[in-house]
Amino acid sequence: MRPEPSELQELVQDLHRRGTPWLPAGLGTRLDWGAAVQEPCEVLSCSRMGGVREFNPGDFTITVAAGTPLVEVQETLGHQGQWLSVDAPWGDADGAAAGSIGGLVARGLAGGYRQRYLGLRDQLIGLQLMRADGVTARAGGKVVKNVAGYDLMRLFCGSWGSLGLITELTLRTLPQPPLRRSVCFQGAGRELAQLSRWLLGSSLSPERIDGWNAPLAAAAGLASEPLLLIGLASVDASTLDEQVACLRERSLLPARVLDAETTSGWLALARGGTLAAATPPSWLLRLGVSPDRVWELMEAPELDGFQGDMAVGSGLGLAWGWEPAPLPGQVSELRHLCQRLGGHLTVLRQPPASSLPAWLDAPARPLLEAIKRRFDPTLQLAPGRLPGVTQSLSTV
Ligand SMILES: Cc1cc2nc3c(=O)[nH]c(=O)nc-3n(C[C@H](O)[C@H](O)[C@H](O)COP(=O)(O)OP(=O)(O)OC[C@H]3O[C@@H](n4cnc5c(N)ncnc54)[C@H](O)[C@@H]3O)c2cc1C
Repeated sequence: MRPEPSELQELVQDLHRRGTPWLPAGLGTRLDWGAAVQEPCEVLSCSRMGGVREFNPGDFTITVAAGTPLVEVQETLGHQGQWLSVDAPWGDADGAAAGSIGGLVARGLAGGYRQRYLGLRDQLIGLQLMRADGVTARAGGKVVKNVAGYDLMRLFCGSWGSLGLITELTLRTLPQPPLRRSVCFQGAGRELAQLSRWLLGSSLSPERIDGWNAPLAAAAGLASEPLLLIGLASVDASTLDEQVACLRERSLLPARVLDAETTSGWLALARGGTLAAATPPSWLLRLGVSPDRVWELMEAPELDGFQGDMAVGSGLGLAWGWEPAPLPGQVSELRHLCQRLGGHLTVLRQPPASSLPAWLDAPARPLLEAIKRRFDPTLQLAPGRLPGVTQSLSTV
């Protein structure tokens, strides 16, 4: 179902009257990630509900319809020297596979830029949503300083379509940094861990601190050794020079300095393994560990056969792999390892023969289920898929 904005409320009310289960969707590029949705289930896409509704460059805010592709938002902002501080979209050249802004928020996942600019939920100022019964609601506002009230924005960020349909979002924008450069080190995980520790405690504020495991570095055409990629940004060249010099002094490993274009090329190569690859990976895993254990994870045998990319400051990242190896048993071991290292593992995609739970029960499971029942008492939305709940209400 791809309703026009004017048709949406009547359609949702009709689905509610008939008790039809349905899945809120953006552009539908990654609907299969995570826990399988229980069939039958209609898909309601926001692809006809796109467009910039309001852009206030002076206030650094933008209001967009949920179905707007992220690339379109960045293009509009770029004309005024601004941007939404999230990673470049993954996908094909025309941007369609990059995904919508609503899908990005509903997933609540972010890449390496989170190091300096925080998560997506921190860019959200307001949102408009439609509940399963067709009632519309608003949370937050359109200015950075907001009134008090329940922070529904954070609740919907990472809700995976299980609580309601996001229809409009207001986001905080930033001026684009005029100068960017990266410094890259390759070597033993032990040495990269030492450098990362120093960096996180230093006064430098990189845009990103990405750790790649050896297979990912090799896939990007580099030596097959763990790699630390530090992205720097500034308004003037001398500050960047100072930061580069400071990083060079801190390590005995040789430093490679990359311009912005080369860095983008490397990042594209690293992400090429996920969506743009001719054969998409059969395994896609979201990893989280305590930030001081990232390099331990990167060299662990449990990660053998996976390409891995971790944000060193947050301890969050992705790993992907192709069949025949790795096997589900190895992924279970990897999950245990992430737990021992203070984190978790979410299975975003797995081979058809594997049936690992996408996520394990979060300690807050009873609270999550109670919230679900308040927003969607008839359990119509995303049946079987409630983030943080292994076996969702509608499947038991
Ligand atoms: C670690 C990680 C980091 C990522 N970082 C980035 C990044 O920096 N930049 C980037 O472009 N992408 C990023 N992604 C991908 C991103 O999280 C989304 O998967 C993508 O934006 C989905 O776009 P879509 O419009 O095709 O959504 P769909 O595939 O249609 O839906 C995705 C999910 O969101 C729900 N959903 C979609 N739209 C709505 C809505 N309007 N209301 C309620 N629920 C909805 C769906 O039910 C589904 O669960 C990242 C992914 C991962 C794993």
